[in-house]
Amino acid sequence: MNSINQFIEENKNRFLDELFSLIRIPSISAEKEHRDDMYKAANRWKELLLEAGANKAEVLETAGNPVTFAEKIIDASLPTILVYAHMDVMPVDPVDLWKTTPFEPVIQDGKIWARGADDDKGQSFIHAKAFEYMVKTNTLPCNVKFIIEGEEEIGSPSLAKFCEDNKEMLKADVILVSDTTMVSPDQPAVTTGLRGLTYWDVEVTGPNRDLHSGLFGGAVANPIVVLSQMIAKCLNPDNSIAIANFNNDVAEVSAEERELLNRRPFNADEYKKAIGVDELSGEEGYTTTERTGIRPSFDVCGIWGGYTGEGTKTVLPSVAHAKISCRLVPNQNFQQVSQLLNDYFQQIAPKSVKVKVTYLHGGNPYVCPIDHPAYVAAEKALIDVFGKQPIPVRSGGSIPIITTFEEILGIKSILIGFGLDGDAIHSPNESFPLENLWNGIRTIPNFYRYFAELNAVK
Ligand SMILES: [Zn+2]
Repeated sequence: MNSINQFIEENKNRFLDELFSLIRIPSISAEKEHRDDMYKAANRWKELLLEAGANKAEVLETAGNPVTFAEKIIDASLPTILVYAHMDVMPVDPVDLWKTTPFEPVIQDGKIWARGADDDKGQSFIHAKAFEYMVKTNTLPCNVKFIIEGEEEIGSPSLAKFCEDNKEMLKADVILVSDTTMVSPDQPAVTTGLRGLTYWDVEVTGPNRDLHSGLFGGAVANPIVVLSQMIAKCLNPDNSIAIANFNNDVAEVSAEERELLNRRPFNADEYKKAIGVDELSGEEGYTTTERTGIRPSFDVCGIWGGYTGEGTKTVLPSVAHAKISCRLVPNQNFQQVSQLLNDYFQQIAPKSVKVKVTYLHGGNPYVCPIDHPAYVAAEKALIDVFGKQPIPVRSGGSIPIITTFEEILGIKSILIGFGLDGDAIHSPNESFPLENLWNGIRTIPNFYRYFAELNAVK
């Protein structure tokens, strides 16, 4: 056995048996009655990683569900790759919409159908088998660690503390993650950026009680009107954000990266049709892909006040409220930004009202620059298998744990996804194409090799 294709061909049935043994464990983290299944999944992962060639594998306790940690250290002077994945899955409701039994995997139309087939059991299994291949062929070029957690689908509440407590054990040069998607079966992608977030509650108070709008209307400021006017002042006419100092740290993205980002296919007509709007709206000078990927955004998530019941009540309300959030991009810091809305609103508020801004929640953005050795290695590895340069994707959303890894462990993550948008993760009839599984196993050893080479040069 020497080539990766031969390795896959000769072991396909065993691989599927092993993957199915993981999938059959209903490790639903959101449902307490599956707590034992989390231990079953953690132990199964431990066995699989030991069988694949790890020197050491153990199931470790956290404040919540267990974590499986494994490693193979071949030479302390070589770089170390830390593979992060999750063993938990989403609930299966509504179960009557499934065409198969969620935890009994079935192969049909070249795909595995089951909860977890893609997210993340199928994708994480790629790493176990790529690792086994490198161990068996004596081609492992660096040290490897695995951390498989059991709470990703509920927001990883215990993992930050686990990282704090185990910094030395988790020491590595890069974190490798497969939990995202490709653009299409033959167009690979690497997720290079995730937006951060900051979220506020705003309260505008005028008179000390709701007033009769006939007796007082026209003479006293209406808090809902004032709040609306202040919100309107948060955007410039070109739809850029007008909050003072908000844009100071926004990283400009190079023309080269913008060109690559925009290679991601985007059909404006389909996009508009899917959400039922006639025209898109956003910051001038940027494409939709850029507006959701590399630019910050301002949104009012809710607004209320005064009388909202049935019929009419002529009232000039005492108080108005809004929930406001901003998506942040590199190099904005959510703690710094969280103060800015308060400063801005206090500055623009008329004396006729009092404004209280309460910060509720936030997280920092993440970026892996496309000249980072891990990105360069991922690009080369994917070109070898797919014959195409991957598209760097800036996701509009957030994966908080990736930011946490950078903040606590000081390690960049590289997100090489092998899933497809059509895999229906989190939904009934989740699937994962077998071809993506095999291509993933083909890609990962190349990533290791290139990453080790690039780090040796450093
Ligand atoms: Zn996932």
